[in-house]
Amino acid sequence: MEINLISDTVTKPTPGMLDAMMSAEVGDDVFKTDATVNAFEEKVAEMFNMEAALFFPSGTMANQTAIKIHTQPGEQLICDKYAHIFNYEGGGVSFNSGVSCKLIDGKKGTFTASQVKEAINPPDFYHSPLTTLVCIENTANKGGGTCWDFEEIKKIKIICNNNNLGFHLDGARLWNALIAKNETPQQYGEIFDTISVCFSKGLGCPVGSVLMGSRQMMNKALRVRKVLGGGMRQSGYLAAAGIYAIYNNIERLKEDHIKAKEISDVLKSLYFIENVEPVETNIIIFNLKKEINENDFMNELKKNNIYIISMGQGKLRIVTHYDYTGEMHERFLEFLENLKL
Ligand SMILES: *Cc1c(COP(=O)(O)O)cnc(C)c1O
Repeated sequence: MEINLISDTVTKPTPGMLDAMMSAEVGDDVFKTDATVNAFEEKVAEMFNMEAALFFPSGTMANQTAIKIHTQPGEQLICDKYAHIFNYEGGGVSFNSGVSCKLIDGKKGTFTASQVKEAINPPDFYHSPLTTLVCIENTANKGGGTCWDFEEIKKIKIICNNNNLGFHLDGARLWNALIAKNETPQQYGEIFDTISVCFSKGLGCPVGSVLMGSRQMMNKALRVRKVLGGGMRQSGYLAAAGIYAIYNNIERLKEDHIKAKEISDVLKSLYFIENVEPVETNIIIFNLKKEINENDFMNELKKNNIYIISMGQGKLRIVTHYDYTGEMHERFLEFLENLKL
């Protein structure tokens, strides 16, 4: 039995999801005539109470498109030093939009409204790049699946309004935050100009992300998606998986959160673990004691068909997900408890 805890992206569609995909009514989405994609986009927009939504092949493309429609070349956006858009999208912010990032030294991937205020370049000081966008990430991936405090988000929104800045949410794992904090999609839809959400992570779809915003913004996004090569044809087969996930796979995220908490409790009790960051959702980040060789630890896991990922600087990451079953969970906890290094 392989236990793959590298990411929640490794999930494969369940028989129920595959059935929904196989029986999807499809058309050609580049001509906007795929009924299932249209229904999916309408459904997601309605959930967040936003005007329009657009289906994307990846979260990266959805974020990059959002950044493109909010900015002009030479401008600057504000994000955390851990942000996915800065660290893990291949330099797309500069490649696609000619924009630079002002990095905030936040706390586990989150920051405060006053830090945003300090990071804004004075708009009439033409020597520095013009600040035009703030991007936040909820949950914060590299922060360890951290959930934002919604009150702080509201304060940042006021700063954005007062300084003419767009406000984008990278909500790849927003679903996890909604479940963990008992929040609603509508409260996020009210605040942000644009929101991206992933369906291929905790929700278990094979492919796909959605970007939301005003009708006008999504019309611009449609053009950018085309330029980036993200127009897909019979993508209703993929959208059908997304619709299925909305109805079947959101509530169950709490099971992933419980398992993550249980793994963190066991890790904390082990003599070779230095530190486990507080677990809020489905991501566990931890460090080994200095005298323990990381490769020895990883090899021991591999030998037992268990896979996790290193985030660099001694940080190791475990992510729980739909395909990580109760049986695997028991085996993994037992393995950890008996591990000698
Ligand atoms: C996974 C992820 C994305 C998008 O990644 P893709 O692999 O392009 O779908 C964006 N932001 C965060 C925080 C992520 O974890």
